[in-house]
Amino acid sequence: MPLEPNEQSIRNPFDFLTLDDGSVLRIQSHLYRIDRHFLEEYKRTVACLGTKDCYFCKHGFKKGTDFYYFGMVDEEEGVIRIPAGLFYFLNNWENENEATKQTTKRGHEWLIKKTGEGQGTRYTAEKLEAVKITEVQLNENNQTLVERMIGEEKGLKTRYNEVESIDSMGGAIK
Ligand SMILES: [Zn+2]
Repeated sequence: MPLEPNEQSIRNPFDFLTLDDGSVLRIQSHLYRIDRHFLEEYKRTVACLGTKDCYFCKHGFKKGTDFYYFGMVDEEEGVIRIPAGLFYFLNNWENENEATKQTTKRGHEWLIKKTGEGQGTRYTAEKLEAVKITEVQLNENNQTLVERMIGEEKGLKTRYNEVESIDSMGGAIK
């Protein structure tokens, strides 16, 4: 093995790719959506089991949704966590272009624009050159995404059980 002069660039293969201002995004799968709760008190993200059955929904914990695609960020390929604001931005763009039916968010590379910080962070995107993906490739990517996300959901479910038992016993210091 050669010496690695740039060790900070080595990424854990289980980490998700994330987007920053100036990133170039290429979406190459369908969407994988996860409902979850971020529990400030416990510093944990846990699964949401749906309004009817979910302990955390029933107890009024704020619910959020994460959006994932398989694709590329700059030159790196993997599973990307898409900020909710950016997901809706791209969806709106797609709806507005629906009349022509000529393109989808998968039909272009996107230059990501990020402004603000923390709660005030906003994402938009600028359309770059057109790209194509075959049906076969799309299906393969969907499968890779699902396999990766099944593992993620398992982890969220485990943490759901852990935190539910702590909280239902009276909880941590709040
Ligand atoms: Zn819930």
